[in-house]
Amino acid sequence: MSDASLIYFDNNATTKTDPAVVKAMMPYLTEEYGNPSSAYRFGKHAAEAVERARGQVAQLLGCEPKEILFTSCGTESNNAAINSALTMDPDRQHVITTRVEHSAIIKHGEWLAKRGCEVTWLGVDEKGQIDLKELERAIRPDTAIVSAMWANNETGVLFPVEEIAAIVHSKRVLFHTDAVQAVGKVPINLAHAHSHINFLSVSGHKLHCPKGVGVLYVNRRTRFNPYLMGGGQEHGKRAGTENVPYCVALGEAAELAGKHMAHEDHAVRALRDDFESKVLETIQDTHVNGDRDHRLPNTTSIVFEGIDSEAVLLLLDQAGICCSAGSACTTGSVHPSHVLKAMGFSTERARSSLRFSFSRYNTAAEVERGLEILRGVIGKLRRMSMAA
Ligand SMILES: *Cc1c(COP(=O)(O)O)cnc(C)c1O
Repeated sequence: MSDASLIYFDNNATTKTDPAVVKAMMPYLTEEYGNPSSAYRFGKHAAEAVERARGQVAQLLGCEPKEILFTSCGTESNNAAINSALTMDPDRQHVITTRVEHSAIIKHGEWLAKRGCEVTWLGVDEKGQIDLKELERAIRPDTAIVSAMWANNETGVLFPVEEIAAIVHSKRVLFHTDAVQAVGKVPINLAHAHSHINFLSVSGHKLHCPKGVGVLYVNRRTRFNPYLMGGGQEHGKRAGTENVPYCVALGEAAELAGKHMAHEDHAVRALRDDFESKVLETIQDTHVNGDRDHRLPNTTSIVFEGIDSEAVLLLLDQAGICCSAGSACTTGSVHPSHVLKAMGFSTERARSSLRFSFSRYNTAAEVERGLEILRGVIGKLRRMSMAA
C-alpha cells in the first residue's frame, strides 16, 4: 500500500514523525555520537543537546528544565512515578487510580495489588467522569499516591486534573497524571495553575516524535526514588547513558507541538467535528461515547449499533483506513474496551464502538473520503446482518 492512499485516523495509537524532528535528531545518530558524560568538548556537544531538549520540553509544560526527566516511554514514566511514591514510606502502600487508565497504569496496579499493595479503583459515570467526592473519601492516611489521567486515549474525555490535584494535595498525598494524550493537544502550565501535580507523564510517539522516548515531570519539591541505578545521569534520577538523538527529537517535537497547539485546537478540532457530525447525520443508529463537553479536540469514539467493530476495522483496513476499536494495546484480544465497560456500556455496545483520532497531518479531503468509505462499510455490514 502506498503511503499516499493511506488514511491515518489513529493518532492516539501513534503519530507520523514530523520531518523536522527527524532532521533535528539526525546529527546525533551519525557524527555527534559523543557521550554526554565525557569531559571533552565532543561529549559536551551531546550534553548540551540533551539540555537544550530538556528546556524545549520544559517550555511546553511550563516548568523548569530540571523538573524534566527523560525516560524510554510513557509506560516507564507511569511506572516510575508510582514506584517512587511506594518506596518513599513503607507505611503508605495504598494507591488510588481509575478504571479507565491506560494499561500502563492498570496492569501495574493489578501487579501491585497481587504484591500486597492496596489499590482503590475509582469508577466513572456514563460520560467517563470520576466523582470527586468519591475520590476525596478514598484518600486515607496510608495513601501513597493518586494517579488519574489527563485525557483518555479511547474517548478523549478530559478529567478535571487541576481540581483532582488540589483535592489530593489538600490531603498531603502525591498526585501523578498520565498526560500522554493531553500534551500538545491542550495547554499545560505546571508552574501556575497546576502546581499541585507532583508527577506527569509524556510520550514522544504521541507527539510526532519517534517511538521509544518519554518524559516524567518531577516537581522540584517532590522527592523521587530512582529504580534504575548506575551512573549519575539525569541528576541521579535515572541511570543509563542518555538516548541523545531521541531526547533531541522529543525536544524538537515539544517545541513544534507548542507552535501547532492552536492549530490542533482549531483546524484539527474542525476536522474531528465535521467527521463526527456527518457520521451522526448520515449513518443511522450512531452515538458519541463520553463527555463531549470535556474532550480532546482530536478524538471521537462512536458506537455503531449492531455492528461488530472488528469487522469494520478489517474492511476499513482493506480500503487503506486506519482507526481503532478501543485501545491499541487490547486490539487482538476479544475483551471489550475496559474504558467503555467502566462507563457502564454493555459488552455489545463496547464491541460496536470505533475510535477515530486526528492530527495536523489529516486533511478535509481525507475526512470526506473516509466518511464515504465508512458509510459503505457500515451499510454493507448492516445489509449482511439483515440477510442473515
Ligand atoms: C500511548 C499511551 C501510553 C503509553 O506510552 P508508550 O510511550 O507507548 O509507553 C500511556 N498512556 C496513555 C494515555 C497512552 O495513550
